[in-house]
Amino acid sequence: MSLLVVGSLALDTIETPFGKAERTLGGSATFISVAASYFIQPVRLVGVVGYDFPKKELDFLREKEIDLEGLQIKEDEKTFHWHGKYSFDLNTRDSITTELNAFANFDPVVPDPFKKSTYVCLGNINPVLQKKVLLQVEKPKLVVADTMNFWIGGMLNELLDVLKYVDVLIINDSEAREMSHEANLIRAAKVIESFGPRILIIKKGEHGALLFYHDDLFIAPAYPLEAIYDPTGAGDSFAGGFIGHLARTEDLSYENMKRAVIYGSTIASFAVESFSLDRMRDLSTFEIKDRFNEFKRLSEFTSI
Ligand code: AMP
Repeated sequence: MSLLVVGSLALDTIETPFGKAERTLGGSATFISVAASYFIQPVRLVGVVGYDFPKKELDFLREKEIDLEGLQIKEDEKTFHWHGKYSFDLNTRDSITTELNAFANFDPVVPDPFKKSTYVCLGNINPVLQKKVLLQVEKPKLVVADTMNFWIGGMLNELLDVLKYVDVLIINDSEAREMSHEANLIRAAKVIESFGPRILIIKKGEHGALLFYHDDLFIAPAYPLEAIYDPTGAGDSFAGGFIGHLARTEDLSYENMKRAVIYGSTIASFAVESFSLDRMRDLSTFEIKDRFNEFKRLSEFTSI
């Protein structure tokens, strides 16, 4: 089994009610690959950074056994920069600035050894780039994709085009409504499935996630955390834990996909406990398993 990830590598400026972090490590591909590295190694990364991307963060990614052969470093451009500001209850956020920088002229090249990757995660990025990467991979067993309102609003046709090749789409509830023009999430799921993905995961922030698997529906809770400092990357970390578990076990059954949703939720719950990727830098297998078991305990009940 082998996992390839494409998406953004970023320097983020984040404002939450708890403080501000400037030009800190972020990006969809960064969160996804670090999250997935707790399940499968190496993770193959395709992306681009500029001259200002700190060397210590490249070293950190290497320490996590993330293979950077597909990472381009542009000496004459800056790294993608995103500035997000969260509301008081952390449930909504505004994108203050999105500076594509090195991503504006990025032409992704999948290195030869990566072309036979069996699991592919298309992280949130321009859908045209997602498709370019996908077309270079020979015969993936499973393609998982994520996106955001920036692309749903700005490049819907390109997004719909890439969705034809996607097996599992992971989006949040407001994105599902925006993409389907349906307020009801069950109806929204049906519309989105008609675009291509056979399986759909709709994330509902602090209210957990819904897994639509053919005709089945699984409802996963979110971990009840008392201290959430920075929700940035929760969705990407979810995607990384989800596909990481599937790639490690190579089992695409409904039962295993439910476990993958809980592993995704587990990793996401760590991601939000501090700014940037800080809490995810050094997780132990014990911590992950322990929180996974806690999810089970929290949602178990007997019928009599
Ligand atoms: P999430 O909170 O899971 O939606 O992901 C947040 C990450 O997405 C941040 O670290 C940003 O750097 C990155 N991001 C924000 N906007 C975009 C965009 N338009 N394209 C690609 N990545 C983005």
